[in-house]
Amino acid sequence: MFELATLDTELAAIEVIREVLVHQRRLRGSGCTGRVCLRCLRHHRNAIAEAMTQGRTIEFLLPAFPTKSPNPAKVLGPLPDLAEELALRFLESLCERIAEVYPPGARVLICSDGRVFNDLIGVSDENVTRYAREINRMIDRIGATRLGQFTLDDVYPGADHAQLRARLTAGRGPSTDELRAEVRRGGDLVHMYRGITRFMLEDLSVPGYTGSRAALQRHCRELAYGVIARSRAWDELLAELFPDTVRLSIHPQPCSTRKIGLLLAETPDAWLTPWHSVAVDTGDGRFTLMKRADAEAAGARLVTAHGRPSHFALPGAPATVPTQATAPTQATAPTQATAPALAHAPTLAPTTGAARHDR
Ligand SMILES: [Zn+2]
Repeated sequence: MFELATLDTELAAIEVIREVLVHQRRLRGSGCTGRVCLRCLRHHRNAIAEAMTQGRTIEFLLPAFPTKSPNPAKVLGPLPDLAEELALRFLESLCERIAEVYPPGARVLICSDGRVFNDLIGVSDENVTRYAREINRMIDRIGATRLGQFTLDDVYPGADHAQLRARLTAGRGPSTDELRAEVRRGGDLVHMYRGITRFMLEDLSVPGYTGSRAALQRHCRELAYGVIARSRAWDELLAELFPDTVRLSIHPQPCSTRKIGLLLAETPDAWLTPWHSVAVDTGDGRFTLMKRADAEAAGARLVTAHGRPSHFALPGAPATVPTQATAPTQATAPTQATAPALAHAPTLAPTTGAARHDR
């Protein structure tokens, strides 16, 4: 029998953090080196070791899975598909590997942030609700026992959607003027601001738009500030609610900072996420993420599963649905974003019964 008392916590903590860091999403030029960055390992080791010393489950908090992009050139529709399923399977498998090293194991609380800013990115509240509900169903269907979802709806039960966002931002998050000043000073926020602005431009440049390009760019820059301000507010709220969690992020992170950037899926573009893309079977047993239009241009064909469009298969790939996670390998992001990064997260809390809604 495995005896916790004999566990060398320090060594086990290093093993656990290595399991996470081999999937690290890095910001190029920010100092990370080696297959597993020793500086990042040292930086995050204590939080893991502290949970282990107390014998509790390691709680990771990941703001992610907000809602599908409204752009039909990027995604198959408003509901989660194989792109999300592969990412969930990967997160579950990561927790399983951690449990092999440390039997109390780990959990990932997905803090879905769709409700936080969907009104700014042109997605209806109804589609946010449907997406979150399907994520919960997907977690159940694939038998993931170490994943849970938490949303803004869980924070203020009974409030309507506009009230939820108003209560979130009351006294939290920066003002637009503060963000403008921060962008002018340079730094990491510039990359996120540019990435989100570019994402907005992609999604709002629809055939029906009749205004000028310059006016649309001004509008998108304003929206980007709004998205960042709401994300910061969500970040602050999560830090209040879950102070003892280990923070993960879908965005590339600089070396040795508060959050660990985590790659959710194989992708040639480290900024691409499952909700801005489609899963593509490359035919060699692996999946990658691509924008839908790019997959179609590459000659990929649509595969359906569970009665809905699921993913694309490149010529030569089988039209079947995988049941195993494919672990993404480490990726370094350029300092220019090509897709949005619409989520942020704080520091963690234990013993959270992964809350869900709309079950
Ligand atoms: Zn590092």
